[in-house]
Amino acid sequence: MEEHHIQKMGKQKNIALVAHDNRKIELLEWAKFNLLTLSQHKLYGTGTTGGLLTEKLGLPVHRYKSGPLGGDQQIGADISEGVIDFMIFFWDPLQSQPHDVDVKALLRLSVLYNIPVACNRATADFLISSPLLGNPYDRIIKDFQLPTKL
Ligand code: PGA
Repeated sequence: MEEHHIQKMGKQKNIALVAHDNRKIELLEWAKFNLLTLSQHKLYGTGTTGGLLTEKLGLPVHRYKSGPLGGDQQIGADISEGVIDFMIFFWDPLQSQPHDVDVKALLRLSVLYNIPVACNRATADFLISSPLLGNPYDRIIKDFQLPTKL
């Protein structure tokens, strides 16, 4: 197998939740349906999404800045640090965002660090009902060799 290392995920996952404006209601509905399961994990969210989850559903959420103000980048940084290990990201497929580049960067890091990501409700349903969610999991992260500069 290629060079890699293992990032251990505990029973309790650190889940980031993000929704663009046109998809916030959908995320809230989904979170309401899955309230009990979500309350067993540690939740993080971009400013507005996180605020809504707390205000409407009473979920404790660590809030980053709002997405357009750097929140997506903060989540990406925490993925690279091994803090966030799971993401529900309902991004808007019909409208471009002022922070599209940040969105792309966040999705890139989620692939690079091999975290489970759901960008639509069906995937979110499959992920949250996975038996792996409530169990420890060893995430394999490929060790990339960056070219050495002279
Ligand atoms: P928001 O950010 O939760 O602060 O609206 C979401 C986003 O646009 O990334």
